[in-house]
Amino acid sequence: MSGFDIEGLLKFQPARYYCVKCLALTGEISTKPSGPGTIRNRDGRLECSVCQLEYVPTSSYSRSAVASYLADMSCHIKSVADLNHARQLARIGSDVRRGDPHYPPVRGLLEALSRARDFAHFTTFNMSRVMVGALKVTAQRISVRGAVSAIDSALLAELVDYREEAPGLSVKAYDSDPDETKRIHENMIVIDGLLAFKGPANLTMSEWRKAAYQYPDREGGGSTSKSETVVTDVEEVIALHNSNFSPRWARMSMIGDKITMDFPR
Ligand SMILES: [Zn+2]
Repeated sequence: MSGFDIEGLLKFQPARYYCVKCLALTGEISTKPSGPGTIRNRDGRLECSVCQLEYVPTSSYSRSAVASYLADMSCHIKSVADLNHARQLARIGSDVRRGDPHYPPVRGLLEALSRARDFAHFTTFNMSRVMVGALKVTAQRISVRGAVSAIDSALLAELVDYREEAPGLSVKAYDSDPDETKRIHENMIVIDGLLAFKGPANLTMSEWRKAAYQYPDREGGGSTSKSETVVTDVEEVIALHNSNFSPRWARMSMIGDKITMDFPR
C-alpha cells in the first residue's frame, strides 16, 4: 500500500528565523562549531554566514539565546508551525507546474501573495504598476521587501514617496548605480521561505504572461524553458533567497559588522 509516511515530515526543515542585517533565512541556529544553519558558530563567535554579522552576547541574551533575541526582534517566521499553510503554498506550486491555461503563473503569484503570512522578498530588474499595486496590497498585512534595478522614475516615486500608504513595503533601488556588477541578474520572489518563483522574468505583467507559455508540462507544447520555474523544495528556496536577495539587502543596511544583543527599545 502506498500512502504518505509521516516520517517524511522529518525532512521538512523550514526557515524559522532570519538575520537582522541581511534577512538570510535559517532553520537552525548553531551555537556549536560546524553546526547547520545560516547563523552559526565560527571560531568561537556567532556569525551570519551570508553577511558575516557577528551576534555579540550580553547579560540580556547569552550565546545560546540568539533564537530568543531574534524572536524579540521580530526576526522569526510565525507561520512555520502551521503545516496547513505549507500545504496551501505547495498546492499553488503544483497548480502552476501543471500548466493549466485556467491557472497561469500570474494567478499563482497573485494567489501566493494573497496567502503569504510572514513575508514576500524579491529581486527584479523592473516591475509594472499592476505588480506595485499587488505588492502594496500585500504589504497591508505582511512585510514585503525588494531590491530592484532599472525601474523607471515614476514607479520609483510610487514606491518611495508614498511609503505611508503601505508601511510594510520596503524597496531598495539600484537603477542609479552605474556599476553593472551591482545590478541584479537573478529575478525571484520568495513567499514565507516556502515557495519561490524564479527566472529571467521581470515583475511585469507582460513577462509573467509570457511565462505561461514556457512551462514544460503545458498541454499542447510551448517551449520547454527551465528558466521560468516555481520552486517548492524548501532547502532550495532558502538557498535561492540567501544567495540572491540577502547579499543585496545587506549592502544597503545601516547595521555594521557586529550587533550587540540587547533588549529592543
Ligand atoms: Zn546576515
